[in-house]
Amino acid sequence: MADTKLYDVLGVSKNASDLEIKKAYRKLAKEFHPDKNPEAGDKFKEISFAYEVLSDSKKRSVYDKFGLKAMQEGGHDGPGFAPDDFFSHLFGGGLFGMGMGGGMGARRQHRGEDTVHPLKISLEEMYNGKTAKLQLSKNVICAACDGKGGRSGASHTCRTCRGCGVKISYRQLGPGMSQQLQSRCPDCRGEGKVINEKDRCSLCHGKKVVNETKILDVHIDKGMREGQKIYFRGEGDQQPEVEPGDVIIVLHQKHHDKFQRSGDDLVMTHTITLTEALCGFCMGLKHLDGRELLIKHPPGQVVKPGDIKGIEGEGMPHYRNPFEKGNLYIKFDVTFPENHFTNEIKLKELEQLLPPRPTFEMPKGDNFEEVDLHEYDPNERTAGMSGRQEAYASDDDEHAGGPGGIQCSHQ
Ligand SMILES: [Zn+2]
Ligand SMILES: [Zn+2]
Repeated sequence: MADTKLYDVLGVSKNASDLEIKKAYRKLAKEFHPDKNPEAGDKFKEISFAYEVLSDSKKRSVYDKFGLKAMQEGGHDGPGFAPDDFFSHLFGGGLFGMGMGGGMGARRQHRGEDTVHPLKISLEEMYNGKTAKLQLSKNVICAACDGKGGRSGASHTCRTCRGCGVKISYRQLGPGMSQQLQSRCPDCRGEGKVINEKDRCSLCHGKKVVNETKILDVHIDKGMREGQKIYFRGEGDQQPEVEPGDVIIVLHQKHHDKFQRSGDDLVMTHTITLTEALCGFCMGLKHLDGRELLIKHPPGQVVKPGDIKGIEGEGMPHYRNPFEKGNLYIKFDVTFPENHFTNEIKLKELEQLLPPRPTFEMPKGDNFEEVDLHEYDPNERTAGMSGRQEAYASDDDEHAGGPGGIQCSHQ
């Protein structure tokens, strides 16, 4: 029935000495620490679990005799040792089989809250990848008192809440009616136990945890996206008897002046002159990795305002497959020359070069009126609009009484 799974996890033999186990654990823990290896959080837990068992002579002997299943069923009396469900999936459900039922829920430690940090990064960083250093402050178990808050035996039941951690108060709603309100006991902060001031740990002042500044290496892989999350398993705030939650980094992309991102594609707008639009052009484009792209557009292929052209493989790298890239799309704007950019003689010459204008027949007779075309002025238009609206309204009136009435008479 005995197995060697936990020894295998640490890569040691079943007869390994305590020192060998410790050495093996240190080496692996370094290698798979979530700081260095965020993807390997589960592996790290596995290693920690194996060490937790094998470094404790009592647990180790229980494990040697009865195997993992015994650890799962609680065939030992070590405190603070509650297998978690992560363990069952790592080692395969079949291993534990029947042993998973019953009191498991009650024995499972609860888990602390996750800490979410937004991290602003540039599009260049999402293109090239980078390691960002993120400084965060977190609570860790106080080393001076080992998370007890004071010398051992110093804590006693809170008098305010009688140990239940909840304060009950009543709110008068009306005559003969009151509402019962429950809140966390302020004297013991919901823990049900307090430590007298003089007995408190001098380092954490009885809080059991101290604040520590920690620097996380956040690996931004090529092709990561807005809103993508990076997990640091178990790096959340520590509390006694609670499995720490995760630190979750959420990426936010800073605005980029040139490129917009659309999935794995990049989109940009480029303005060319009318001359370039008609006669071809060359443009240089500095890419997100610093490369200078040279784009040539041959004369004769006319670019119209709003045309979109694409360059294959110059978009964003695919996440986890960065040699594959999306496309780059360029939307063209065309600027026209200013008024009187040349004289009338040259304009005549220009007209000779351009496609012929459509023929126009001058109206004959008296039934035409020549009008002037003015520059458009938005303010003037607003004033004009109200007058126009009135005109429309009277038109509508006519319609209502007009064609409608005629239709009626026909029926
Ligand atoms: Zn209390
Ligand atoms: Zn302390």
